[in-house]
Amino acid sequence: MIAVTGLVKAFNGTPVLRGIDLTIQPGERIVVIGPSGTGKSTLLRCINFLDHADEGTIRIGDLSVDVAKATKAQILAVRRRTAFVFQNYALFANRTARGNITEALVTVQGIPKAEATSRADEILRDIGLSDKADAYPASLSGGQQQRVGIGRALALNAPLILFDEPTSALDPEWVGEVLDLMRRIAEQRQTMLIVTHEMQFAREIADRVIFMEGGRIVEEGPPSQIFDAP
Ligand code: ADP
Ligand code: ADP
Repeated sequence: MIAVTGLVKAFNGTPVLRGIDLTIQPGERIVVIGPSGTGKSTLLRCINFLDHADEGTIRIGDLSVDVAKATKAQILAVRRRTAFVFQNYALFANRTARGNITEALVTVQGIPKAEATSRADEILRDIGLSDKADAYPASLSGGQQQRVGIGRALALNAPLILFDEPTSALDPEWVGEVLDLMRRIAEQRQTMLIVTHEMQFAREIADRVIFMEGGRIVEEGPPSQIFDAP
């Protein structure tokens, strides 16, 4: 089980997360919605320590971290257990598709290079990009770049994948292929926490929808309850 408790975060004295409590069951697919600027992305970033929360606890299985006192080793341990998919892909421009996946396996999981490379090739097959293994991001479409970004997250074999508006930066023509890949991942019951504006997609795959406003969770429930409320 994964649990976030009492997560608080301010930027320059302005509160952005005002006490988030969230328990995630294995295999659960959660979509986070809410107005812009309400802290959705910050919540995901704080779980992965891309942003450092001020207070709260992050528990992933037997690992429990008090964020205010987190050591470097604990932060790395959390990162090994959570993979992050970025809105803007965040691929290294000077690494190939295979290199981007291999790099994450080596630096985050400490897997030896040769093993990481063969694991990367397996993942590229899975996501239908074997023929682009040696391609650099600039030569890939936005959809292909984001599939590599998702492939990198999958490669980490993390108990939780965090998706931060994964289709928001894409030209409309590439959104479908990325959502299709995410649907396939959801079908495999990968635990997913997703910030997205794709409401039809949320309706299809979410076990639970969380509505955030003003740095708090104000409502949560199955998609039917959240979207079809009178
Ligand atoms: P959402 O994802 O719901 O649109 P965000 O989590 O991106 O909201 O942002 C919540 C608030 O925190 C916004 O007011 C935003 O401007 C602010 N914020 C986010 N990141 C930073 C940062 N690195 N420095 C200062 N303010 C930030
Ligand atoms: P540090 O905090 O030590 O600077 P970074 O956050 O820069 O570490 O990450 C180091 C490496 O791990 C980079 O190659 C980055 O691409 C990769 N990485 C970090 N977090 C993730 C993640 N959640 N999913 C995929 N790759 C990641």
